Amino acid sequence: MAIQVFKAKYEINECLNEIRECLEAGWTGLGFKTVQFEEAWKKYTGLQNTHFINSSTIGLYMAIAILKNEYNWKNQDEIITTPITFISTNHAILKSDLKPVFADIDDTMCLDPKSVKSRISERTKAVMYVGIGGNMGNYKEIVNICRENGLKLIIDAAHMSGTRLDGVIPGQEADVVVYSYQAVKNLPTADSGMICFKDSRLDEIVRKYSWLGINKDTYARSSNNGAYKWKYDVDYLGDKGHGNSVMAAIGLVQLKYLDRDNSYRRQLSKWYQKELDHLKDKIKFVRMEVGCESSCHLFQILVERRDELIQELNKNDIYPGVHYITNTDYKMYSYAKGSCTYADYVSAHVLSLPMHMYLTYEDVKKICNVISCFVES
Ligand SMILES: *Cc1c(COP(=O)(O)O)cnc(C)c1O
Repeated sequence: MAIQVFKAKYEINECLNEIRECLEAGWTGLGFKTVQFEEAWKKYTGLQNTHFINSSTIGLYMAIAILKNEYNWKNQDEIITTPITFISTNHAILKSDLKPVFADIDDTMCLDPKSVKSRISERTKAVMYVGIGGNMGNYKEIVNICRENGLKLIIDAAHMSGTRLDGVIPGQEADVVVYSYQAVKNLPTADSGMICFKDSRLDEIVRKYSWLGINKDTYARSSNNGAYKWKYDVDYLGDKGHGNSVMAAIGLVQLKYLDRDNSYRRQLSKWYQKELDHLKDKIKFVRMEVGCESSCHLFQILVERRDELIQELNKNDIYPGVHYITNTDYKMYSYAKGSCTYADYVSAHVLSLPMHMYLTYEDVKKICNVISCFVES
């Protein structure tokens, strides 16, 4: 059987029961399960505000659009960001007519605080931080840099569901944290996410913004007995960003198993490290700071002749991934090409080994065996 880089595992019967409740209630839209899931995520993370959305891509976009409007950022003001990420992260900045300024990453795959500092200018308004693979990197230093320089902190937490730092879910310090529950993430639904603003006032705004700017949600209107329950006003040029009850139903079930699943991912990660330990001179692992308990969304290595190794793995019916090609290689971001040396190195050498709940120790051994033969050949 082919070994894919990702394969989502669902608690199928529980999910179906939860979805059935939506179908029987005749309510699959905003409200009902979305409210329950927001409450459950608030409790799980300890974050102040949680708003369920239909993807993290739209969440990142709304996060920046709302901050820009709130703090009167001007077009072409700058957000310092990473080139090693999925393009949603940086598209969100461009879409608001702001400028992504790329800083380099370090051996944690996350932004290098020194490089971030060196990119700060008069026009810098915020830092966009991505916990790559669930690793928090030097997050605490980034928090300090933002404080010292009066910068907003936005976290793309797409890989971070369940990551803990010094025993707690990180993100309380950030102005906004955006999670993804896309089909291959640690808490898979199909497509959805959560946007968590620190400021409750901005949470109120995003609730309107995510439904075209309408100032009352459907559920409140339909469950309210007032004579004018059909009435609403429109406050913002919003978007269709909110999530629905079917996705929330799946999320509610999967959340119950997130910590269990992540601990198995950490086990897989330990097995990989053990099986590849003898290649330490030839394969680099991702460094993790003390106190970081990663969600292990990814297990990444850095290796010479990466593309050949991928072909070799493919021949053995193993399909790894690459997270990510440096965004400055893409046309949209080519203005920054060559500005991040280590990111360029990572882009050419990084490999994500299969990481999901269906993998066994035997699979890990098989994968590592192919890698071992290749690297030593
Ligand atoms: C998956 C991902 C996103 C986008 O998430 P969606 O929910 O699919 O929009 C954004 N950033 C990173 C780093 C991701 O991995």
